[in-house]
Amino acid sequence: METTPKLEHKSFNCMYCGVFSNQTWHTVFFLLEGKYNNPGNYHACRCSHCFKVSYWSGDGAMLFPRTTLAPKPHNDLPKSALTDYQEARAVYNDSFRSCIFLLKISLSKLLKELGESGNDIEADLSSLVSKGLHPEVCQAYINLATSATNLEIVNKLFELVNFIVEDQITKKKQISSFFSIN
Ligand SMILES: [Zn+2]
Repeated sequence: METTPKLEHKSFNCMYCGVFSNQTWHTVFFLLEGKYNNPGNYHACRCSHCFKVSYWSGDGAMLFPRTTLAPKPHNDLPKSALTDYQEARAVYNDSFRSCIFLLKISLSKLLKELGESGNDIEADLSSLVSKGLHPEVCQAYINLATSATNLEIVNKLFELVNFIVEDQITKKKQISSFFSIN
């Protein structure tokens, strides 16, 4: 299983070489007016496999390289919802408010593909719960959407979209192909 890079984590799949490897963390100091300090709480991380260095801010955002660490879309995510999902990933490093906004649009479009209104995420999720979606998904959405103030929670929102795709599209496809007589 792939492990996504995270601030201060001692090992993960490197964003440069892709290898699961040990990572060494250092605090970045700036020489300002003859004194060393770390005004923005910046960190540098060095991969033990390829020796390349990434730079991070103290709130957990990777500043360099400019690769997004946001979860990839599920293969079965409908095309209508994919563009907003990818745009949400593109702004992940810069603004999680924009990221969440775009992710919610993607989720609305997904819900519309699933036969719901696409106008009210909570109402659509409750409707899906009445048709068999796990009730915890709806509650998790409410909790995450109202408390999304850090990247960890934003990641979970991406994963929630992918979970709904897996549960409502992929599994149903698998079941119907398993029981198909042809
Ligand atoms: Zn590496």
